[in-house]
Amino acid sequence: MKIRRGVIELIMESSKSSLPNEFAAILKAKRGVIYEIALLPGTISGETSAIMQIFLRPLDLNYVGTVHSHPSGLIYPSDEDKSLFSKFGQIHIIVGYPFKIDSWRAFNNEGIQVDLEMIE
Ligand SMILES: [Zn+2]
Repeated sequence: MKIRRGVIELIMESSKSSLPNEFAAILKAKRGVIYEIALLPGTISGETSAIMQIFLRPLDLNYVGTVHSHPSGLIYPSDEDKSLFSKFGQIHIIVGYPFKIDSWRAFNNEGIQVDLEMIE
């Protein structure tokens, strides 16, 4: 799996404008490349948690995982995050303050950090 740089840039901009709240979205991929994010209706954004209504998502095989922000800057999945990761998708990104181009990590559905190559 790879991700386009423009998607990371969009995620970082969205995370900045969501402050002090978290930002959350679904990752869309085609042929192994994450090329877009989708916002879900019913996403509840709060200062400490962004709870996605993942079971209300449209059925779409291009939805491969989730992304959300940690305004705290700590880029590790919480227990709540791990529980969400285990229910849906295969790749999950957490971005952290100050939301620079490299302020992120990717995790699998067990919450273990994995490599995700950024491409132009
Ligand atoms: Zn989190």
